[in-house]
Amino acid sequence: MFNRAEEILQKCKEENKSISDVIIEKEMESFGLTYEKLIEKMRESLEVMKLSANAGLEKEVKSVSGLTGGNAKKIEDYKNKGKTLAGNFINSAMAKAFSTAEVNASMGKIVASPTAGASGIIPSAFLSVKEKLDLSDEDLIKGLFTSAGIGEIIAKNSTISGAEGGCQAECGAAAAMAAGALVEMAGGDPEDSFNASSFALTNIMGLVCDPVAGLVEYPCALRNSSGVVNAITSADMALAKVQSLVPFDEVVDAMSKVGKSMPAALRETAMGGLAATPTGKMCSKKILG
Ligand code: SF4
Repeated sequence: MFNRAEEILQKCKEENKSISDVIIEKEMESFGLTYEKLIEKMRESLEVMKLSANAGLEKEVKSVSGLTGGNAKKIEDYKNKGKTLAGNFINSAMAKAFSTAEVNASMGKIVASPTAGASGIIPSAFLSVKEKLDLSDEDLIKGLFTSAGIGEIIAKNSTISGAEGGCQAECGAAAAMAAGALVEMAGGDPEDSFNASSFALTNIMGLVCDPVAGLVEYPCALRNSSGVVNAITSADMALAKVQSLVPFDEVVDAMSKVGKSMPAALRETAMGGLAATPTGKMCSKKILG
């Protein structure tokens, strides 16, 4: 597999291929699978993503703890009134991201992409852009391989664990994975994709992991909702040919260093940030006793 974005870009350039083509070829080689088999496996993930991103739009999905739930439906209903500030597209994406996060918090089935905590960002970004650009499932499946390739670079050179690197490693990584794929699906080139991924990570570098009561619910669901907006706006910036001053590989290295310098209280221990506020502690006491 690839270790750095630079290697992927080089391969794309030499062979005049998209990131998804290059990643699919590499996966076929690594796992000894045919193209058809690989696509079928990814199709299964896409189907789970569709269900989780839509489950909370029509009926409220609530967690056992009561810390989160019902917000996907609130945003969907608000959007349907037609008076949003950010417009239907963005509000619809936010609702879908909430939906998957709520399904996750209620112990439903999701695709960890790259983690359960950040599982709302990629499905909502992909399904929103599918509607907008009239893409096929096949386009989305290819895009998921682009996301996978970007995620692998982050995982290898930094981390995708909130406990290791803060929420930048979960919601940041998911937004970067989504942004790069959105660019490819919208017709951008591989360099544009990595610019978009760089922006998504840069935008929330240093974001801490501070789940109230140690549960992957609050602020996780909110961060999925804002994470998809981060992904979409990062993709738009890259498609407009805004350049990332710092190359993606260096952004990932910086993110790794930032994660390592975070105190333990801000890395999923529920001892800092929102978890340590009076309200956070009160919720924790109520839920955990
Ligand atoms: S706050 Fe922590 S647990 Fe919640 S999504 Fe972010 S990294 Fe995951």
